[in-house]
Amino acid sequence: MAGKILIVDDVATNRIVLKVKLAAAYYETLQASSGKEALGIARAARPDLVLLDVELPDMDGIAVCRQLKSDPQTREIPIVMITAFRDNVRKIEALEAGADEVFWKPLDELVLLARLRSLLRARETSEQLGLRDSTYRELGFAEPRQDFTSQSLIGLVAGDLKTALRWKQELQPHLSDRIVILDRDGAMGNFQDTAVPDVFLVAMDLAQPGEGLRLMSELRSRPATRYSSICMVLPETAHETAAVALDLGANDLIEAQADPAEMAQRVRTQTVRKRQADKLRESLADGLRLAMTDPLTGLHNRRYAMPHLSRIAERAVASGRQFAVMVIDLDRFKSINDTYGHAAGDAVLVEVAKRLRANLRVVDLIARIGGEEFLVALPDTTIESARATAERLRRMLAGMPVLISEGCCISVTMSIGLAIGNSKGSEDLSVDRMIALADRALLDSKAEGRNQVTVGRTAA
Ligand code: GH3
Ligand code: MG
Ligand code: MG
Repeated sequence: MAGKILIVDDVATNRIVLKVKLAAAYYETLQASSGKEALGIARAARPDLVLLDVELPDMDGIAVCRQLKSDPQTREIPIVMITAFRDNVRKIEALEAGADEVFWKPLDELVLLARLRSLLRARETSEQLGLRDSTYRELGFAEPRQDFTSQSLIGLVAGDLKTALRWKQELQPHLSDRIVILDRDGAMGNFQDTAVPDVFLVAMDLAQPGEGLRLMSELRSRPATRYSSICMVLPETAHETAAVALDLGANDLIEAQADPAEMAQRVRTQTVRKRQADKLRESLADGLRLAMTDPLTGLHNRRYAMPHLSRIAERAVASGRQFAVMVIDLDRFKSINDTYGHAAGDAVLVEVAKRLRANLRVVDLIARIGGEEFLVALPDTTIESARATAERLRRMLAGMPVLISEGCCISVTMSIGLAIGNSKGSEDLSVDRMIALADRALLDSKAEGRNQVTVGRTAA
């Protein structure tokens, strides 16, 4: 099934005509003959989309739309409203109530089906994003972020400057967003120094008829503008082009002669959606980052370090080069906590992480794998240079006390255990055995009095 659509109309023949059309396109349908019934079915059956008659006997269809959009259970369901009256004021009212589209009767089947496909596609994407986001939240990764509402940027690409200026003049009084006029090349720029428009308004006909569609496909395929919303502006009569535009990924269509208030309302809907999608994407990225990062020091955590270390080991075998693993443990850290307090201990950990980062290469792996224990992996490194690096790290900590607050310095040292992987003449060590070897070397460093580096040797 392509999706489950609730048809709301008090006239049985209207419902049947729609049902037949939708069944031919493989949609499953549900039916309601009143507003009240529609609300009940929408909550109980959770359709993927609602086709809603504006004129219902028991309630105003727009009120039904408003109720569906205010109920968390049904808020995400796209709504297409259908009316027998060409009333622009009511149309804008419906859009403001949250309707995704308003169609006059008689319905153009081609455009209707294209619109349904586009809305169902968008819903599927946002559901998937939302689902992943809630999983991250459940796992405790994603943190709710500050909801600051900045201005959005609207980019206008019209066939000629005069039209673009008219759009801008008509839209600006209705919107608090920034509006810029772009030509075709400007829209396809790389936006390195300027903000990327959140919403593009693109005329169907640019220098050549239909060129707007090509521009839309370009914008969709470019990294900079891939996530921007695109509204195509086209003549009311262009039914076939309208359907094509929706299938090619237009987020909305605006009739060239549309009331400025309607135009603005559609743009506003797109800016809100775009911002929600941006937020979801950011929180997903945050979730991924947090899943791999130690929140205190910003270093990688053990979960990330272990598979990454395996990959370094595989690369070393493939390239025939050696690599080194260090396990680092701060000396007598407990007494730092006991003497100066836990916050001071945390500050020391942060400073140690900072110094490690500053003293290693970008290709080196640095992770916090325990309370005051770090793991460093050095790809392409011989035993000599690994030992020199470890010594340098040891000195850079012991040589300069850590400032934890105004005038309060703590002397901190660390012990290091070192192991070399893929060294010639020796057996191949698994990552686990290398770490065990480095761990044993670390214990030797501790036993020998701390603040020193020990190289682990295999029994062989
Ligand atoms: P050694 O030289 O033998 O390593 O002695 P140590 O005191 O460093 O070792 P021990 O393992 O006994 O103590 C580690 C301490 O690290 C105990 C624990 O409270 C502290 N610790 C672990 N994680 C954190 C943290 O995130 N912040 C702070 N401030 N302390 C931590
Ligand atoms: Mg310790
Ligand atoms: Mg320890």
